Amino acid sequence: MRITVLAGGVGGARFALGLRDAARELHGDRAEIRIVTNVGDDVWLAGVKVCPDLDSLLYALAGVGDTERGWGRAGESERVAAELTAYGVGWPWFTLGDLDLGTHLARTAMLRDGATLTEATGRLAARWPLGATLLPVTDDEVPTHVVTDEGVLHFEEWWVRTRAQLPAHRFVQHGVERSRIAPAARAAIADADVILLAPSNPVVSIGTILGIPGVRDALETAAAPVVGVSPIIGGRAVRGMAAACLAAIGVEADAAAVAAHYGARSGGGLLDGWLLAEEDAGSRERVEALGTRAAVRPLWLTPGEPAAQVARDALELAASLTR
Ligand code: GDP
Ligand code: CA
Repeated sequence: MRITVLAGGVGGARFALGLRDAARELHGDRAEIRIVTNVGDDVWLAGVKVCPDLDSLLYALAGVGDTERGWGRAGESERVAAELTAYGVGWPWFTLGDLDLGTHLARTAMLRDGATLTEATGRLAARWPLGATLLPVTDDEVPTHVVTDEGVLHFEEWWVRTRAQLPAHRFVQHGVERSRIAPAARAAIADADVILLAPSNPVVSIGTILGIPGVRDALETAAAPVVGVSPIIGGRAVRGMAAACLAAIGVEADAAAVAAHYGARSGGGLLDGWLLAEEDAGSRERVEALGTRAAVRPLWLTPGEPAAQVARDALELAASLTR
């Protein structure tokens, strides 16, 4: 059972943990999870390449993430960061912990030696039994920038320094027109038995992935059903500031509006199925009117059984759609 997931960082990681449990239970050793990951948040900082979404997934699946803080490594220290700040290097509001810097240094060394980001990610991941393969959507650099009244900021500066409070007019993917889907990511979409959209930010996580040339083609021609899990619960983008991103592209923070934004596959869009939160049961008809099969379930990704149940429900909806 080859399961391919498109995912961003925190929402993606919560879903991936649940999916790993659910897939093992349903398919045992035959479960193969591949996670096609957003790289729009990536940034060169203090001479190293930082990949926030890949690292959130890596640390979560490896069980070494800081679950309380929600990002970075558990048991982290910041001695190197303090030195960097003293030198005025990097962003003082974007802390790179010592253990985390180890990852970035290792990755940067591999890239400098000529590895692609896909290869470097594979080598980093080989350290732990993740139970999933992490596949950057592209090996090219496509940093997301945000157009604001104060100028054009790197996405991480807008997100972390301004806490997405500075109104965003537009998101721009630098270099996207010259980028290409990574071959391993394309293969993972092409030969999947099931394709899932994690409940990740529809604009700057999933939207960025979909914007890479070759991704939409791969999804359109894939034989597998495509099922999305709503990142909206009760009309809110929970745990984070995704509402500010949706506002910038003129999409309501509403489960049916996000489904409509992705579109039904039958109408030239993406989705065969859409998992709605119980709190949004009233949106079911609007989702089905798009030509998308809807199911209504609890969608809180609480670690352990609740997150596994969300993944099981997504797989079940996909199974009901297998063409
Ligand atoms: P980021 O890259 O770290 O911003 O993370 P993602 O893009 O993967 O996911 C962020 C989104 O996940 C949030 O904007 C929420 O909409 C969604 N999310 C977070 N927690 C939950 C949850 O418990 N259930 C669901 N359905 N969505 C969630
Ligand atoms: Ca992210």
